[in-house]
Amino acid sequence: MMGCKGCSRNIDVSDEFVQLQVEQQLQLETDLVEDELYIKRLDKCNSCPSLLYGHTCGHCGCFVQFRAKLAYKTCPSPDGAKW
Ligand code: SF4
Repeated sequence: MMGCKGCSRNIDVSDEFVQLQVEQQLQLETDLVEDELYIKRLDKCNSCPSLLYGHTCGHCGCFVQFRAKLAYKTCPSPDGAKW
């Protein structure tokens, strides 16, 4: 398995932990996409071979549940943005 951008450890955390982290990070953000676009973005991530552990993008190290909610972010894939 490909390692995370930041380190090579397996990041084995619960869905609840990810959800809490994402909710905390999003509290500081104001430029968010609507749920319909958010779900489309996450669908792309969920079928992407660069998604690690079900929550982390292997290219930027972000929780995708966080990054996909930000209107000003794009997919960082070097093969071309998927969203
Ligand atoms: S490369 Fe793009 S589509 Fe793939 S996990 Fe990262 S953000 Fe999602």
